[in-house]
Amino acid sequence: MDNSVINWWEITLGQEEISGITNAIRNRCISMGKLTEEFESSIAGLLHVPYVVCVTSGTSALMVALMAAGVKPGDNVIVPDRTFIATAHAAMILGAKVRLVDSKSGKPVIDERLIEQKINKRTRAIIPVHINGHAADMGEIGNIGNKYGIPVIEDACQAFHSSSNGKYLGTLSRFGCFSLGLAKLVTTGQGGFIVCHNEEDYHTLKRIRNQGVFDVFRETNSGMVSGNFKFTDIQASIGLAQLSKIKEKLEHQTAVYTRYQEGLKGVNCLKGIDVNIHAGEIPLRPEFLCTERDRFITEINKFGINVVAHTHSLSELTYMDSRGAYPNSKNFHRNALIFPCGPNQPIGNIEKTIEAVKQISHKFKGW
Ligand SMILES: *Cc1c(COP(=O)(O)O)cnc(C)c1O
Repeated sequence: MDNSVINWWEITLGQEEISGITNAIRNRCISMGKLTEEFESSIAGLLHVPYVVCVTSGTSALMVALMAAGVKPGDNVIVPDRTFIATAHAAMILGAKVRLVDSKSGKPVIDERLIEQKINKRTRAIIPVHINGHAADMGEIGNIGNKYGIPVIEDACQAFHSSSNGKYLGTLSRFGCFSLGLAKLVTTGQGGFIVCHNEEDYHTLKRIRNQGVFDVFRETNSGMVSGNFKFTDIQASIGLAQLSKIKEKLEHQTAVYTRYQEGLKGVNCLKGIDVNIHAGEIPLRPEFLCTERDRFITEINKFGINVVAHTHSLSELTYMDSRGAYPNSKNFHRNALIFPCGPNQPIGNIEKTIEAVKQISHKFKGW
């Protein structure tokens, strides 16, 4: 690895993870077993929920939750236009059609006022996404779900431990889906989990995770088409080590965010997308809007600094349903970028990035 390059994301596994894996293997904990259960109950304790089910990825968490909510081919699922493609793919791979909704103007989450006009008689789920730790309006979205009898499934893949006025995001609807991928706050390499609140849903999730049964040796007839979405104890051993550092991780995320906010104040070509730290939101990535995003990236890359463009809006993709206009989402799509960050990004790299921005900022017009 070239040390002079600053990557957009840095995460390092350390001695805790190495010891965890070694012990898992020595104790013959390789596939899904007691370490997975221990990891699930640790997460449940952290998020104050009764049930957690670990699966292979954030995408499969969404898929399994949609299956548990009864989503079938031809059904409609409501998804925000501003999200990582996985939210839509989870519904589409089940044969459902995705209906997109624009974001708010100042915040890249679904505009709850635009949801009702996208509901039709085939709508079977609404998936608000707490992108980058920003809280979607779960009170209002819950009301809409109740009014039409449509389950709400939160995509909290970018919002682990982020909260809104004392309530953890991902715990405010029937199912909350989380990712343990590499570019997330807590990682097990790959992986994900679902949280839920009642025993019936919990049993359904566990069955879907394992070919439709609790025990493949005892039950021969699962009565449902399912698959293998099982987690492993090897991953859980990494996850448990990661959770032991959660406090430091959260502090680092906030420190990185605050350093950029302060350091880039007065840089006219950039406008920060604010995260509500006081309400408990945890920024996963520092996001800025730039007047000339792509040229800015080219210029700062010359310093060996990997500032990257933010996620594509879904309506910009050729194979999505893109009927309708998404003006707010388009603004984020065109202008948003992500600065170097991550749980193990040295603060020194943040300082170097701020310095480089100051050297090039005069080349761009202001907001
Ligand atoms: C990462 C992510 C996912 C998918 O998680 P994977 O573990 O990569 O499958 C889904 N939605 C959002 C918003 C994400 O950021």
